[in-house]
Amino acid sequence: MPDARDLRVHDPQLYFAEDGNPRSERFGDIYYSLQDGLSETRAVFLSGCHMPDIWADRPAFTVAELGFGTGLNIAALLQMWAEHRPGNNHLHIFSIEAFLMTRDEAARALNAWPELAPFSEVILNQWPKSRHGFHIMEFPQWGARLTLALTDVREALTQWNGKADAWFLDGFSPALNPDMWAEDVLGLIGQRSKAGAQLATFTVAGAVRRGLTEAGFAVSKQPGFGKKRERLEAVFGGEAPPLPIKIPRILVMGAGIAGCSLSCALSSLGLDHDLCDPNGLGAQASGNRAALVTPRLDAGGGAVAQLYADAHAYATSLYRRLSPQAILGDGVLQRAQTERDRTRFAKVATQPCFAGDALQPHDDGLFMAEALAVEPLAVLSALIGGRMIHAAPPHDIDSYDHVFWAVGAGVWDQAFAADLDLRPVRGQVEVATAEAQILAQAWGGYAIPVPEGVLFGATHDREDRGADIRDTDRLKNIDTLSKALPELAAGIDPAHLISRASVRVTTRDHLPAVGTVSPGIHVLTGLGGRAFCLAPILAQDLVAQVFDLPSPLMASARHLVQIERVLTVKAPM
Ligand code: SAM
Repeated sequence: MPDARDLRVHDPQLYFAEDGNPRSERFGDIYYSLQDGLSETRAVFLSGCHMPDIWADRPAFTVAELGFGTGLNIAALLQMWAEHRPGNNHLHIFSIEAFLMTRDEAARALNAWPELAPFSEVILNQWPKSRHGFHIMEFPQWGARLTLALTDVREALTQWNGKADAWFLDGFSPALNPDMWAEDVLGLIGQRSKAGAQLATFTVAGAVRRGLTEAGFAVSKQPGFGKKRERLEAVFGGEAPPLPIKIPRILVMGAGIAGCSLSCALSSLGLDHDLCDPNGLGAQASGNRAALVTPRLDAGGGAVAQLYADAHAYATSLYRRLSPQAILGDGVLQRAQTERDRTRFAKVATQPCFAGDALQPHDDGLFMAEALAVEPLAVLSALIGGRMIHAAPPHDIDSYDHVFWAVGAGVWDQAFAADLDLRPVRGQVEVATAEAQILAQAWGGYAIPVPEGVLFGATHDREDRGADIRDTDRLKNIDTLSKALPELAAGIDPAHLISRASVRVTTRDHLPAVGTVSPGIHVLTGLGGRAFCLAPILAQDLVAQVFDLPSPLMASARHLVQIERVLTVKAPM
């Protein structure tokens, strides 16, 4: 077995036996009953967790699974949810897989169940690449979302900010796959269970029963499915809390990428809200003619690289799904300026949080194959999906239970900003009408082909809050462009540029700042020059924190970005 500290996602060594069923050579076990996998799933896991009755009076129902495998259990769960979803309730699924099969292997396995086709298909369409991290799949048609933790079970459970109402324990058999059933793993399951959570599994092994009892579950053997004599059901202690009665009143301030991502996250969870920006959509730093969606290339191999990798995977999949028309180009070249850059890129590219082909060596540096160039305004309007933008809050601001501040440089107009160490960085960009057959690229400056020519920039002036257009900055931008694309730069006339300047918000450690600054006041800021990469996942996480929902962001990433670290006065929050 690979070392648990080895974060790489491994190959399950899958093969299809003569009877057509998938087996793992690595574990020497089958993925599901040869007799009838789907009926077993329904009998052991869905009925074992008392579905669908169990979710009737629990809004935002959360199912967690150990062992994603082919996705069969989740496809069957989605089918039942689609048929029995109470009202507009939401389903959160968290599943764990350290030995990911390929999409084609899963498709071949799931093909055996044509009745699940609509559900298998949406899973297969969002099948992850093999990389370490949290991968998000969204099923808005059923109000459901899956966070798939591609990592060892212990790390997955430790990193999960969430609590389950129901558990499917579906590792390979305890004898062949002891890690999945270890006492400390069962303990983590207890810690991440809501009161009254239901748990189901196919095994009645003594150690599993004892471990679950120790973790706070009351276990009971039930008649098994097919040839198996028995299966297990368990219920976690405590009574499920009563339903919240009041629908919260929510206001989002700011219609840039942060505010629009918050609006999208709230809508995806069925949370109605008002969206307000006196200047309309993308009026400040999110409104350039083009933007890059790229991860920060951190070579540290730790939580920072992971945050950007997971954020990037989510942002790009979200934009592709919601606004394919906003995509100007696939792939972005990061130019190496020095030999040290090349060494660093090579190190970044082999980190487990990136898929093997996501970062490719290139003559001029590193080709980020999954990065995008997008049209910001088209992305923003797709994120809010036709929601009206109010010029002023339609109700007295004190009447809202929650106000989310996502106002970019407008943050300095707010009283709470006085306690936060946030820093302005002015940036000017230029659009030139030119014939530019270039890749979207970055090197310190950046250049993005747009239909009418090329957008390039940007200046970077710390502690400058001016959004005026400056001739000196035009010359600086042409000079920066000439370092990477001298021929293109030589043909550009500074008098014929369309310039735009705005102010970004950054922090001392160049990481975003996300969280609650006082009761009902929540802030998403400090996104700097990577807002189109970071905002969607951070918005999901902030909404999850505020409404006590499972988050698709790793705990280590939440810790990195928490707003408490930029507080200048360390007051109790
Ligand atoms: N629920 C799956 C389905 O619907 O196809 C079948 C799951 S199969 C019985 C068990 C799964 O657990 C395999 O996909 C295996 O790769 C995964 N697994 C085994 N050990 C693991 C570990 N330590 N961490 C995470 N996943 C693990």
